[in-house]
Amino acid sequence: MTETKSEADSPAPASDVAAGLAEVRAGIRQAAQDSARAPGSIHLVAVSKTVPAAGILPALEAGQRLFGENYVQETRAKWPALRERYPDVELHLIGPLQSNKAREAVELFDVIHSLDRLSLAAALAKEIARAGRAPKLLIQVNTGDEPQKGGISPAQVDVLIAECRDTHGLAINGLMCIPPADDPPSAHFALLARIAGRHNLPILSMGMSADYPAAIQLGATHVRVGTAIFGARPRKG
Ligand SMILES: *Cc1c(COP(=O)(O)O)cnc(C)c1O
Repeated sequence: MTETKSEADSPAPASDVAAGLAEVRAGIRQAAQDSARAPGSIHLVAVSKTVPAAGILPALEAGQRLFGENYVQETRAKWPALRERYPDVELHLIGPLQSNKAREAVELFDVIHSLDRLSLAAALAKEIARAGRAPKLLIQVNTGDEPQKGGISPAQVDVLIAECRDTHGLAINGLMCIPPADDPPSAHFALLARIAGRHNLPILSMGMSADYPAAIQLGATHVRVGTAIFGARPRKG
């Protein structure tokens, strides 16, 4: 992205958000058509991390209801007020989750995409039982086996799925991946789809701004798109 920090620091104008959203919706319809899939089988998760409430409102006004956030604290600060106005919003946690935030995550989110270890499964199971509220759970797979990235290795995912179910009684609803930045993503999407297929998992969370059409070709049910809707994010730090 070529935008300077000062441009990216303020939210994109409402008209830009509406236009970005319309473009992504059209892109999803096109990719669905290209692969003979029903457009309704593909869900757009609008990734609103770092976007202030004022920047999210135009997307809500345009009918968008599924949103992805990376941080528990940011979600707690931003979403309760928005949710009062739009009670049918569905919040997806797509960032890494620390076990000590499991309670808040279970309270705030409808879908958690980043379950990647047994200790976190244990923490989530405990909080789900306590809250009497069960977000859908996806296991994040580190398809590129990148050391710095969250997610379970493809070699260990079968065991983790079994242990989540058998040891903690957790229903696993699907899988999520973030392909390595420098790899063509399709091989990673195909791998994730194969793992989901052999476990009969219905949700496949894959594809972002740069590659969601390819992910849809390979079976994505949920694409997570931020930049193409809300514009470039401010740089970290
Ligand atoms: C930020 C983020 C996205 C959205 O990425 P864009 O390139 O802005 O579309 C999707 N998934 C995850 C896990 C993210 O952290």
